[in-house]
Amino acid sequence: MLEIANLTVRYGKHLALDAVNLTVGSGEIVVVLGANGAGKSSLLKGVAGMVPRDAGSVTLNGTPLDGLHAHSLPNAGLALVPEGRGMIGPMTVEENLRLGATPDRARDHEDETLEQVFDIFPRLKERRRQILRTMSGGEQQMAAVGRAMMSKPDILLLDEPSLGLAPIIVGDLFRALAKVRDTGMGLLIVEQNVTISLRNAERGYLLEAGRITGAGTAQDLMQDDAVKDAFLGGAA
Ligand code: ATP
Repeated sequence: MLEIANLTVRYGKHLALDAVNLTVGSGEIVVVLGANGAGKSSLLKGVAGMVPRDAGSVTLNGTPLDGLHAHSLPNAGLALVPEGRGMIGPMTVEENLRLGATPDRARDHEDETLEQVFDIFPRLKERRRQILRTMSGGEQQMAAVGRAMMSKPDILLLDEPSLGLAPIIVGDLFRALAKVRDTGMGLLIVEQNVTISLRNAERGYLLEAGRITGAGTAQDLMQDDAVKDAFLGGAA
């Protein structure tokens, strides 16, 4: 279980994240819904140690993740799929995937995990020898998720995975993410795409101007007027 308590992030005088509390269990998808500038990326960066925490704590399975740096994430059991994906364009799909298997916890299971990734993303298996940058945006996003899976994390953090993808591809991607969840991993996804993310999540939180303003089961949030007002123009 990932437990985020009182997490606060400032950029100079700007309070980007204000005492955020949330949890992600194993085998569940938790989505944090927020508009542009709500603090979604700051939340993930604060968890991942990519920006200094002004206050608060993050623990994974009871172990405090203090003084964490981006490079020590995989050994700690966290994997981040950042906005923009951070993949290596000139390398093949398979080379990119195998790069994910660097932590001790993952190295001995590399081939087995690769098969698991290929089961969930058959397209990546078909394209394993293809140079990554020649693939579509959706395929590259799938490869980014696959690479993160290769590190065998307990918790996968995803920064707006739907960004820039066509709706039909977003649907495929979230259905695949549900299969990743079914392997027992916990997923924390920050998103603006309310409908598709809630449809595939167990629970969700609303993030507005750095604060959690609502939380509930995905089913309840879909019916919630605050969600409709904030994201769906009250129309859905
Ligand atoms: P987006 O969807 O646009 O990426 P977001 O919800 O991820 O938005 P953040 O990127 O976390 O939001 O930004 C939260 C707030 O902090 C915004 O007002 C943003 O302008 C500000 N901010 C983000 N990064 C920095 C930074 N490095 N320095 C100063 N302010 C920043």
